[in-house]
Amino acid sequence: MLTSIAGRSVVVTGASKGIGKGIARVFARQGAKVLVVARSGADVDATAAELGPGASGFAADVRQLPDMEAMAAATVERHGGIDVLCANAGIFPMAKLADMTTDDWDQVMGTNLKGMFLAVQACLPALQRSGRGRIVVTSSITGPITGLPGWSHYGASKAGQLGFVRTAAIELARHKVTINAVLPGNVMTEGLVDLGQDYLDAMTASVPLRRLGSVEDIGNAALFFASDEAAYITGQTLVVDGGQVLPESLTALED
Ligand code: NAP
Repeated sequence: MLTSIAGRSVVVTGASKGIGKGIARVFARQGAKVLVVARSGADVDATAAELGPGASGFAADVRQLPDMEAMAAATVERHGGIDVLCANAGIFPMAKLADMTTDDWDQVMGTNLKGMFLAVQACLPALQRSGRGRIVVTSSITGPITGLPGWSHYGASKAGQLGFVRTAAIELARHKVTINAVLPGNVMTEGLVDLGQDYLDAMTASVPLRRLGSVEDIGNAALFFASDEAAYITGQTLVVDGGQVLPESLTALED
């Protein structure tokens, strides 16, 4: 049983759908005050309404520093501070290396890597003031541990996040702010459904626990990193993938 985080101020980027919405829902259920952030204003408001009176929406693009500064300011104004930032917004368009354009590369890096940096930097003063600030980054198994054709830019961005986390952990420790990363496997989200049924079937077959992850599976891991009980953990990763990274070969998955 974790100590209650009721009343704490939580910002979740990429929270109008998918994993971010799951993270926001887990925190809202615990009684936290949650800022739901994504680019679509209609979507963030609809998600916040679904989550209940403790949640509110804020439209912002993680690639833009002024948007991230406005997001941090709005959170402080609405909640009185920031205790937890879940830097989750990310995109995963596929492009084979031979065909990848510089724009493809920049879009993925701009959202996944630069967007995470800007969100962290903008929230930092308020996280420091919290005295128990927590940052939880949504990385991936893809890049840090595994590879998948079409995702060299994505894998680089997700592995890059871990390099950021390790150095940021040292810099932020003196302010009692921790930063850790959750590495999801394949999680049922709107973004994953867009990759098609063949992709979903192949991924389910490669998971020892024989199901794709739920968004709450990732939300629960984020909640643990944000808890008082995780106060002495920083710069670390937690893989949440149903065992997907474990098999040495396809035969390992045969009954
Ligand atoms: P998703 O269903 O496509 O949702 C993405 C969310 O991010 C939406 O709320 C989207 O809303 C928002 N977003 C996208 N670009 C943004 C931007 N520039 N600024 C602010 N918000 C933005 O994606 P997901 O599957 O939940 O993935 C979320 C995170 O988990 C990503 O970092 C992804 O790499 C990671 N992940 C996912 C899986 C998986 O299996 N699904 C596995 C490993 C890691 P708007 O479009 O309105 O901005």
